[in-house]
Amino acid sequence: MTHSFGRDLFMTPGPSVIPDRVLNAMHKPAPNIYEGDLIDTVDGILQNLRKVARTTGDPTIYISNGHGVWEAALHNVVAPGEKVLCLATGTFGNGWADTASAMGIEAEILDFGTAARFNSQKVAEVLALDTANEIKAVLATHTDTSSSVSNDIAGLRQAMDETGHTALLMVDCIASLGCEPFEMDEWGVDVMVAGCQKGLMTPPGMAFTFHNSKAAEVSARTPKTSPYWDWMPRTDPDRFYMRFAGTPPTHHLFGLDEALRMIVAEEGIENVLARHTKQAQAVWAAIDTWAQKGAIRCNVSDPEHRSTAVTTVVSDSVDLLPLQEWCKDQGGLVLGVGIGFGDYEPHQIFRIGHMGHMNPVMLLGALSTIDAGLKALQIPHGSGAIEAAGRVLSA
Ligand SMILES: *Cc1c(COP(=O)(O)O)cnc(C)c1O
Repeated sequence: MTHSFGRDLFMTPGPSVIPDRVLNAMHKPAPNIYEGDLIDTVDGILQNLRKVARTTGDPTIYISNGHGVWEAALHNVVAPGEKVLCLATGTFGNGWADTASAMGIEAEILDFGTAARFNSQKVAEVLALDTANEIKAVLATHTDTSSSVSNDIAGLRQAMDETGHTALLMVDCIASLGCEPFEMDEWGVDVMVAGCQKGLMTPPGMAFTFHNSKAAEVSARTPKTSPYWDWMPRTDPDRFYMRFAGTPPTHHLFGLDEALRMIVAEEGIENVLARHTKQAQAVWAAIDTWAQKGAIRCNVSDPEHRSTAVTTVVSDSVDLLPLQEWCKDQGGLVLGVGIGFGDYEPHQIFRIGHMGHMNPVMLLGALSTIDAGLKALQIPHGSGAIEAAGRVLSA
């Protein structure tokens, strides 16, 4: 018999929990899209997006999901026939490479497995051999949401700079923006892509590119075939509608405006990031305790390499689908499904999203529900996981 008649909790790594305030902000009549308040709202959003990404560069808002801005970013700075170097630490790194290939771009993949960060020295070795500067960009994923590996982007930039190579550094922060420290300007990232539905707590439907002046120069000489993906008129529009290449996503903008106010003006980005670190450490404390009996464990063993937005749990011995079903049907807790990688099939994996709008009661409720599920299904697990998580949160 299920006891789940309250509100379901979604601990998926995107779309993440939408704050009621964001939903309520969207509940408004249609605005004037030619003049007036909406234009100021968008200016405020762009300003806050810069603050979250820590850049003075130009953000562009697309009516799109993450897959769309993978394409948008590439379209602006890499021409078909040119080459990019793609660093993979999970499914999403490979996904961006597949998008590049489908666009006629030559995508060389450096696969670093799914259990640890990429090795920037290996990247530097490949770049050093490319004396003709044929590689136009290095594509890196900050946090790969399938494996929950979080990569060292500052270290990558440094290794690239030491080679003197001219390649742009392009980074996928779709899972990490607003959840993990990221310094676009300080770290020397030329192009960054993000979405609204993960750390930014807004219903899926908008995604962003950010670019610096170096990327703008490359973009100015890159031939373009898509007026929709072209970021140039969007960042320097003659008329407001050109920011969106057509009708703006009015109500998504209202939602995002509210979410960014919560992040930037109220909680403060530093506090948001510190909260995510704490939340993640609480989740790891629970999983590392369960792992003492050997049935399940964090996919990434080194805490330094773990994402503070999402944690991937794997099992070498147990089918984890019944646990996910138990949590959903009996507990009202929806976990992130496993995306297969390496030696792991999807049913040997689940993911806990701890991104965005979350507090201790949600986190401890989710961990306790998983704990109850492990007991109900007699999956071996160390005891004291919830106490361990509580200790982290109260420290
Ligand atoms: C979610 C995600 C994507 C894909 O985003 P969609 O909005 O589902 O298209 C790409 N990269 C990373 C790192 C992600 O987390």
